[in-house]
Amino acid sequence: FVRFDNVQKSYDGRTLVVKGFEMDIEQGEFITLLGPSGSGKSTVLMMMAGFEQPTHGEIYLNGNPIKKLPPHKRGIGLVFQNYALFPHMTVEENLAFPLQVRNLSKSEIEKKVKRALDMVRLSDFGHRRPAHLSGGQQQRVAVARALVFEPELVLMDEPLGALDKNLREEMQYEIKHIQEDLGVTMIYVTHDQSEALTMSDRIAVFNDGVVQQLATPEELYERPVNAFVAQFIGENN
Ligand code: ATP
Ligand code: MG
Repeated sequence: FVRFDNVQKSYDGRTLVVKGFEMDIEQGEFITLLGPSGSGKSTVLMMMAGFEQPTHGEIYLNGNPIKKLPPHKRGIGLVFQNYALFPHMTVEENLAFPLQVRNLSKSEIEKKVKRALDMVRLSDFGHRRPAHLSGGQQQRVAVARALVFEPELVLMDEPLGALDKNLREEMQYEIKHIQEDLGVTMIYVTHDQSEALTMSDRIAVFNDGVVQQLATPEELYERPVNAFVAQFIGENN
């Protein structure tokens, strides 16, 4: 479904920050990119979304090179840290927007927006503007907006970063539940080991632009391939 073939990225023409990333992702899988700050996780998502081009290698979506599709035609739901809500629109309008650009009927839009709001437990907040929500509530709207048009593929970059521990755990469960329910493919970025272990089908552990190990949570926990993985997975557990 998604395939990364020897993907490399350099921002300055010299230093590679992603060094030969290889991965095949099946439809409906929940894949997490886990690794320390600066290890290249967001760069991989940016290339998938079309905001950055690989310096070398190719990304395929359904067998076709993704660079042939302009970013807005990739049908990907995004939750990025710097990909803000539209400030002049209410929560409902923010959620309706991706549906309007896809020409859905008014009643269909209403139904889907309502369901998305219920999903992130913000049914009473539909008429507010983002500025009048807490940071965590804004993040939940962003999650709802990425899912409201039922994309095949969703990319989330640290979507729960600003939430407190309880809400983070609740949202981990919610996102996982929604992802399974809709059968969407997820590429999820976090540096939180326990979050990765609870949510993922498979985890790619990054360090310095290189995948150290790509495996299920159980395999990573029980059979880490090197000291870096063992230490990184072991933290906070
Ligand atoms: P974090 O957990 O802190 O978000 P990350 O794993 O997402 O880190 P990236 O944002 O992919 O890491 O960055 C990987 C490397 O590329 C870092 O050394 C970073 O400084 C560099 N980098 C990222 N974006 C740019 C850019 N637009 N121009 C130049 N260098 C960049
Ligand atoms: Mg990042």
